[in-house]
Amino acid sequence: MRFLFLGTASGMPTGHRRHSCLLVEENGERVLVDAGEGATAGLLQAGIDIDGITRVVITHTHADHVTGLPLLLQGMHLAGRTRPLSISVPPGRVQWFRDWLRGMYIFTEKWSFPFDVLQYGDRVHEDDAGGTQGLHILPFANGHLDKVRDLAAKHDVPTGSYSLHVSGRGGSAVLSSDIAALDDVAAMAAGCDLLVVESTHVSQDGIHALATAHPDLRIICTHIPQEMEDALPGLERRSALQTKGRILYANDGMEFILENDTA
Ligand SMILES: [Zn+2]
Repeated sequence: MRFLFLGTASGMPTGHRRHSCLLVEENGERVLVDAGEGATAGLLQAGIDIDGITRVVITHTHADHVTGLPLLLQGMHLAGRTRPLSISVPPGRVQWFRDWLRGMYIFTEKWSFPFDVLQYGDRVHEDDAGGTQGLHILPFANGHLDKVRDLAAKHDVPTGSYSLHVSGRGGSAVLSSDIAALDDVAAMAAGCDLLVVESTHVSQDGIHALATAHPDLRIICTHIPQEMEDALPGLERRSALQTKGRILYANDGMEFILENDTA
């Protein structure tokens, strides 16, 4: 299972990191997890043929996780893509995405390829992988948007936010996306080979403790806030000395291969 980190910034725009976007590949299936600003540029810079992307999964609708989606669709269309694309979104958000894309004149009748926005678990295109050969992706809810629940309810906006459990021949991983606290994903990650965890709403000491408690777990920190940049060399040293380097810190363009022979 291959992970390519395309956007590793927090929600704060910065000059040297793009916003949340992670490509997960296995056995010919290429899934883009979130499409923050700069997603398409990141894919192209990494030499990825965007025509090969089979599916996009959105974890929640904060701007730094979705604003790259329309340009990804536009890029695929202008490049003449013909294969279908499914965009999986949290429950209750399908119509909002459809309206948002239509508002940018991204009409299915006009587009070079069929695409549809689907709620997690729904599948429309026959070659939309995710079955026995590719990746199994299971979203599970986290508390990231609980803090805005009351205000969002007043504005009639759902507050679902999801982490993903991803498994395939290479092993299993939890992708936290944004969470409220490490407890949102710790139990699920304990049984996995890899945890990709955001670094804005959790403490590095908590991540270090999790790595210490689970000696087989590898951890990649992403969603790096600006105020953490200066601490990264020290954190990497601590990881090397105390966890055999099992905690890594992502930057844009970083690749990680998960190969678990026992999976
Ligand atoms: Zn968020």
